[in-house]
Amino acid sequence: MASGPTVLMRLVASAYSIAQKAGVIVRRVIAEGDLGIVEKTCATDLQTRADRLVQMSICSSLVRKFPKLTIIGEEDLPPEDVDQELIEDGQWEEILKKPCPAQYLAIKEEDLVVWVDPLDGTKEYTEGLLDNVTVLIGIAYKGKAIAGIINQPYYNYQAGPDAVLGRTIWAVLGLGAFGFQLKEAPAGKHIVTTTRSHGSQLVMDCVQAMEPDAVLRVGGAGNKIIQLIEGKASAYVFASPGCKKWDTCAPEVVLHAVGGKLTDVHGNALQYSKDVKHMNSAGVLAALRNYDYYASRVPESVKKALVP
Ligand code: AMP
Ligand code: MG
Ligand code: MG
Repeated sequence: MASGPTVLMRLVASAYSIAQKAGVIVRRVIAEGDLGIVEKTCATDLQTRADRLVQMSICSSLVRKFPKLTIIGEEDLPPEDVDQELIEDGQWEEILKKPCPAQYLAIKEEDLVVWVDPLDGTKEYTEGLLDNVTVLIGIAYKGKAIAGIINQPYYNYQAGPDAVLGRTIWAVLGLGAFGFQLKEAPAGKHIVTTTRSHGSQLVMDCVQAMEPDAVLRVGGAGNKIIQLIEGKASAYVFASPGCKKWDTCAPEVVLHAVGGKLTDVHGNALQYSKDVKHMNSAGVLAALRNYDYYASRVPESVKKALVP
């Protein structure tokens, strides 16, 4: 009997359209000029009107179509009626035409956990570093990140008025990664990307232990994985708690789908079941190539300080 696309592929196709809508909202908030900034835990932990509107848009749009999913979003928002205008009902047809990897054919909606970072790189967003910003929708099954969608609302914003603004990158393990051109970082060089607004002595000690030829300090976990897959950086090193499961879920899948590796500083895979703690307490270590070099250089003092 012929059957239609699987739950996973329908979810990814819907999440693609929902992430594109999110990108429109992120741009609209900037254009309207009122960012509505709120401090969450401190001055470097911010929430804007875009974080709030996008989370409402993504979560409400997903739950309408997939009511049995577990959805975990970054922002703690009071329950309220969501403006119909924020709901996205579309699904990206190109994704529905692709085959679902065999190991995911039998997945049911209630088996999936979706990790949502409505706006990654909020600090940079408030400072006008707009290409640092991404919208992240990560999909996990049995504790493992298996599909991810990344919208970069301001991709190309410095490329002139004729350039198409924004893009959506997506990946499913076993199928591949799409929406960008894979590029290798310069051979033989260690270019390390790390935080620009959540640094500490431990973070810098770990970066220096990599003997980097260059250090790039940029915002956003999504943005740093994009640097890895587009050859701008060779490793993402963040020896600190602070980064959460919604920051790493979608980016991890994109990196893994092209042969890279993302773990904590001990080399442990990150877990994404619905009952895990949200914080990546033992930091993040990721590379497209030569992951073992970077893992071998994490100092014992850093490992001791960061308990999983
Ligand atoms: P960054 O590389 O600083 O942009 O951090 C990547 C992600 O982790 C962003 O979503 C940050 O908001 C989050 N993050 C990292 N460190 C912290 C922290 N100390 N407090 C709050 N959020 C953090
Ligand atoms: Mg984030
Ligand atoms: Mg965020």
